[in-house]
Amino acid sequence: MKPSKSLNYPAKRYLKSKDLLAVYKTLRKSFGHQKWWPARTPFEMMVGAILTQNTAWINVEKAIENLRSANALSFAAIRRISERRLAALIRPAGYFNIKANRLKHLAAFLQKEFQGNFKAMFRMNGKKLRERLLQVKGIGPETADSILLYGAKKYFFVIDAYTKRIFTRHRLIRGKHSYDVWQKLFNNALPRKLDLFNDFHAQIVAVGKHFCRSTPQCESCPLKIYL
Ligand code: SF4
Repeated sequence: MKPSKSLNYPAKRYLKSKDLLAVYKTLRKSFGHQKWWPARTPFEMMVGAILTQNTAWINVEKAIENLRSANALSFAAIRRISERRLAALIRPAGYFNIKANRLKHLAAFLQKEFQGNFKAMFRMNGKKLRERLLQVKGIGPETADSILLYGAKKYFFVIDAYTKRIFTRHRLIRGKHSYDVWQKLFNNALPRKLDLFNDFHAQIVAVGKHFCRSTPQCESCPLKIYL
């Protein structure tokens, strides 16, 4: 996209609200509201956040369906089920042994800290909850922020590989930065509207999935006008 003048200087690495909102408006017009997170319960949302690590959502859907069919898509069921059986059910999501272990750790954390009371968990101060989530084995910043944004409905913009790829290709952010720097840039630039935080990330995933792949399909991409 044509960045704001100030963004042309390599030393600057902040985003302008108007640039981001222009991108969002274009994507929203192309893809429509994405209605994320695609989950029926807060726990299902958290399970999805772990299952989607390093895999496409279509594979997560298959794993979620397996869990649902086996009546294993609840906090109580994940606590009860053996790790081996859990791994077999989530096999389509890839890294199934690792992810089964992570789901078990998440469930143990929810039990130990909140006795399975998600409402109490989501009522916690966002920064404190983020710190606690990051201590759970297998939960990194992207997974923690997905849970905070889509589960707890708190203002933590989710940064993923698509976000970095798209905004780097459009030279809106230059150089290599940590996850936290990326998130701060988005959090600072965006108006604090939960639906915007929510849907913008979903739109980025849509454009990343359909157009901004390792070989970009710029010719047919809605963001081509900003190159
Ligand atoms: S595919 Fe091209 S136009 Fe679309 S977001 Fe990626 S770099 Fe931009």
